[in-house]
Amino acid sequence: MNKEVFHSDIAIIGAGAVGLSLAANLAKKYPQKSVALLERHDGFGREISSRNSEVIHAGIYYGKESLKAKYCLKGKDLLYNFCREYSIPHIKCGKYIVSSSEEQNDALFEIQKNAAENGVSLELLSEKQLSKETKLSHFKNALYSPETGIFDSHKYMQTLERMAQEKNVFLAYKNSFNKILDINNDEIIFEAYDEKQNYFYMKCQYFINAGGLSSAKIANQFYPHEIYKNKACRGRYYSLSSKYNNYFDKLIYPIPDNDCVGIHTTNELDGKVKLGPDSDWTFAETYEASDPSLCQFFAKEDDVKELFFTEGKKLIPSLTLNDLTQNYIGVRPKLFIENQPEEDFKILKIINGNTQAIHLLGIESPGLTSSLAIGDDIKLE
Ligand SMILES: Cc1cc2nc3c(=O)[nH]c(=O)nc-3n(C[C@H](O)[C@H](O)[C@H](O)COP(=O)(O)OP(=O)(O)OC[C@H]3O[C@@H](n4cnc5c(N)ncnc54)[C@H](O)[C@@H]3O)c2cc1C
Repeated sequence: MNKEVFHSDIAIIGAGAVGLSLAANLAKKYPQKSVALLERHDGFGREISSRNSEVIHAGIYYGKESLKAKYCLKGKDLLYNFCREYSIPHIKCGKYIVSSSEEQNDALFEIQKNAAENGVSLELLSEKQLSKETKLSHFKNALYSPETGIFDSHKYMQTLERMAQEKNVFLAYKNSFNKILDINNDEIIFEAYDEKQNYFYMKCQYFINAGGLSSAKIANQFYPHEIYKNKACRGRYYSLSSKYNNYFDKLIYPIPDNDCVGIHTTNELDGKVKLGPDSDWTFAETYEASDPSLCQFFAKEDDVKELFFTEGKKLIPSLTLNDLTQNYIGVRPKLFIENQPEEDFKILKIINGNTQAIHLLGIESPGLTSSLAIGDDIKLE
């Protein structure tokens, strides 16, 4: 049976924050080119972009020359401006990174030094200064980041979707990329399918992979063997009972542990407070990173509450076990290249004749903060 063939100059896979930002930006930059955005779900932001902390990060922790630092710093400013311009609810509430002991202070000073190298200035608060605030008096020292904030990521993506539509981006929801069929001098040809499993072909000159948890799998289609892998690192969240609504006016972060910034408090825009995310690698080797069941709490995860209670109590001494309720889980696309962990974002450009494929890999935190900067930065060659 002959399959239908569609053509778009630019084809973007994935309508998360990154794909939407790219769609809106590229359609604006290249008005003469047609843009199609393929998304397997029935709307935007159904995967990583809707299961995170919704924090606008200041660029504190990332290496000086890293893409994470570059895009986070630029993205934060773009995002605050965007929120103001399009009335996206947000609060530049600031955050404290707290140390609870003399030993932790060394780590605190390292964080301050690293932030300074990125051009981010953090104020060091003494024990005496903290003691004046009852809710902070149990901490030894703290760093204050005035630039950190929270925002409504759904409204943000909704606005990007509208901007893309206004620039005639073809939004193909419920359509999944399947596989690359051919790459020649002028076209990249791939197979996709709709919700009824009707397969069709798409031809494009520019192929952009913003597939989040599936981005590594998609990128591997451009090589004869597997190079990239996204391993699932789950970030679980617990809600705090309503008595803690508006408890802190700033976000409270501990000293980071190995591969995440540590279980912290995050204020929601309506005043509710949640704890999380943790860093759970249990299923990294056994599950596809994009497996939807990873976003559910499994029955055997009851003991996780103890972990959140222990970590939460360090931040809020009055916390009890009953104050914690399971909330949601987000999955980080932890990128491995040839089996080696990659800490930074990886933006891969493959030019072949007149075609170009751009793969956005390992877009974990601060990907939301960075999304406008990534969209602004990517140019077609
Ligand atoms: C626990 C957690 C907390 C975080 N907290 C923050 C934070 O506070 N601040 C911050 O800046 N960042 C944070 N991040 C990171 C941020 O959420 C992500 O970097 C960002 O949302 C990634 O966006 P994306 O568009 O790349 O991915 P996604 O939002 O996952 O979008 C990818 C899209 O591609 C689609 N797709 C995949 N494969 C196909 C296919 N074959 N065909 C069609 N469509 C396909 C998917 O359905 C999905 O909609 C956090 C991440 C996690 C996991």
